[in-house]
Amino acid sequence: MSTPILKVTDLKMHFPVKEGILLRASKYNRAVDGVSFEIQPGETLGLVGESGCGKSTLGRCIARLYKPTAGSIEFEGTEIANLRGKALLPFRQNIQMIFQDPMESLNSRHTVGDILEEPFIIHKIGDRAYRQKRVRELLDIVGLPARSVTRFSFEFSGGQRQRIGIARSIALNPRLIICDEPVSALDVSIQSQILNLLVDLQREFNLSYLFIAHDLAVVKHISDRIAIMYLGNIVEQAEGESMYHAPRHPYTQSLISAIPVPDPHRKVERHIIHGDVPSPINPPSGCRFHPRCPHVMDKCKVETPFLRPVGDHVVSCHLDMA
Ligand code: SF4
Repeated sequence: MSTPILKVTDLKMHFPVKEGILLRASKYNRAVDGVSFEIQPGETLGLVGESGCGKSTLGRCIARLYKPTAGSIEFEGTEIANLRGKALLPFRQNIQMIFQDPMESLNSRHTVGDILEEPFIIHKIGDRAYRQKRVRELLDIVGLPARSVTRFSFEFSGGQRQRIGIARSIALNPRLIICDEPVSALDVSIQSQILNLLVDLQREFNLSYLFIAHDLAVVKHISDRIAIMYLGNIVEQAEGESMYHAPRHPYTQSLISAIPVPDPHRKVERHIIHGDVPSPINPPSGCRFHPRCPHVMDKCKVETPFLRPVGDHVVSCHLDMA
């Protein structure tokens, strides 16, 4: 295996919860609480979990929109978790994000031409003629007409706006793109067009993706490997097909069994879990999944399980899976 483009080790992002008249932080929201994984060059790692599990916070830490509380983020062998200011600029060029809601991430007072030209201006790349040529190329790459440059983002459909967001994310030839729920807000028919565009771009530009979503069916379509996140931790990692057909962790089993099957004659064993995700401010002791787990044992309430190899998966669970 080659050197990973991204290596994340024991990453934590704890947000202070300020209370009282003096707004003192007496508690912490442990949104990301000790996450480790790697992404290889040209690979897509799907990151799946329910709302509030910390997956978007994790993505923003890696893109260095947040400074993590602790842990390591190595990008192509260089530690970036503690970099600040100008030292971060080259990495901002190489690590880009695509957001869920392109309407919120695109400035509605700027034309599409201005939006796509902005990254070149920030990074002082090329003169006006070069930048305008690149803007036309980017529009062509994502399947939008050249006349889009003079229009505003609100004049486009949701799918077209996401194409603009994707064009902006690839403008500076990044190596890694964090895709944060990029198709969740789109109609199903448009979702597949955007996913296919992302796959085409990955092939053409040898991009690596961290693809964040709550929908395992969407993630399976695009991912080489999948990581399952629950309440600030990764609980299972495996290759896409293996995760889908032979999930090991009880939480993953419940997520997989909830995916609708198009064949009405095929019987699927449902693993239903009850209750909501507990608060990351006061997570359960031991295994964080224990209040909802159908296989819970006494040990699970006091001992924290850690990721260990189980066949071709890595799983954090006390169950004997040999
Ligand atoms: Fe369930 Fe225990 Fe495994 Fe946690 S460690 S997933 S509670 S069996």
